[in-house]
Amino acid sequence: MYPSTPSIDLPAPRSPPSLLPSLLGEGEPLRTQTFGVVFSTATYLLYGLITWYQVQAGLMHSGIGWALTLLALSLNAMAYIVVRRGWVLTGRDPGLARTQLLFGVALMFAAYAALGPGASGLLVVMASHVVYSMFIMNPRQVWTLVGFTLGGLGLTMLACHWLWPARYDATVQANGFLYALLVMPLIALLAHRITAMTQRLKAQHVELQDALGRLHELATRDELTRTHNRRHIADLLEIEQAQHRRMSLPLSVALIDIDLFKSVNDRHGHAVGDQVLRCFSQLARQQLRESDLLGRWGGEEFLVVLPNTSRGAALLAMNRLQQRLATVSSDLMPMGLRITFSAGVTELSADEGIDQAIERADQAMYRAKTSGRARSLEG
Ligand code: GH3
Ligand code: MG
Ligand code: MG
Repeated sequence: MYPSTPSIDLPAPRSPPSLLPSLLGEGEPLRTQTFGVVFSTATYLLYGLITWYQVQAGLMHSGIGWALTLLALSLNAMAYIVVRRGWVLTGRDPGLARTQLLFGVALMFAAYAALGPGASGLLVVMASHVVYSMFIMNPRQVWTLVGFTLGGLGLTMLACHWLWPARYDATVQANGFLYALLVMPLIALLAHRITAMTQRLKAQHVELQDALGRLHELATRDELTRTHNRRHIADLLEIEQAQHRRMSLPLSVALIDIDLFKSVNDRHGHAVGDQVLRCFSQLARQQLRESDLLGRWGGEEFLVVLPNTSRGAALLAMNRLQQRLATVSSDLMPMGLRITFSAGVTELSADEGIDQAIERADQAMYRAKTSGRARSLEG
């Protein structure tokens, strides 16, 4: 009776269990949508049992009971084929959930006309269809369903009373209809509240995701140069080291320090110094490989992590960066400043911590400074 296909207006429910992949199909949203039809078919089978009881109890003619049950099951079988083939994955009614609900209510009208004095119990089933619709329809569609249900019910009651006045007493019909008239619009009003709540939840979810993104950014990025900050590049280095140790691949680091940077600040001001840092990190990012990681280690110092790179290859990479900087510095840097750097390069051995390796790179960088700057040395 109730297709359990998720609405596009609501967050998807938990996926159905991955049993019977050939029955449900592979991948989302196909699996969830097909599960909806299978679930609906199962409820119709249960409904068939009730119909069987009604036939046995003499409430319904057996031919009509069979016809209604077979009609419900064949409609479900058609829905299954259409949904399982993936023909209605998207669009106005994904998984035919809304269409199935409308058919479900229409079948209730037919059952109402067949049941005679026992028909009033169906009012609860109709109301439960409208309750379910809140989860797969927007409020406007719920109102339409309420209108369809009340209109169809009213017409069915009138027709039944007209055709079989003894079986469908006018007072009983009016009484039932008044209940339906009270309950169904109330459910539609509830749908408005649920939709508002869902939309608020969705908005809060988006805000939370944004805030988390911003927090992550703050926690891992250097604000000035937009490279990784010191803590994050150290974390990344630890991760790389663990991977490289497992695979016995070389991993190198380079500690870069911009030469005579203090004099840039002193002569041109802090803002120009900041701009130099930004330009340098941009150039380094472009020049390094995609897999290399660049982080600001502090002040005018940067740490480069070079995965799958030996010490010699890392030294070559630093020399290339130095050459590139010499070529483009006057165009790239503010006031055409000519910037150089000194770097210490080392390869991590499997049994040492990252602090030891960085200390070695620092010493090599210090030697590069003392032996004239604008160079990279191995440590
Ligand atoms: P050396 O070649 O020996 O490295 O000389 P240096 O002048 O680069 O070295 P020093 O460590 O004496 O100076 C580093 C300067 O970097 C001092 C500090 O004010 C400046 N600095 C650190 N962080 C920033 C920053 O974020 N922006 C700017 N503009 N300057 C910074
Ligand atoms: Mg320094
Ligand atoms: Mg310096």
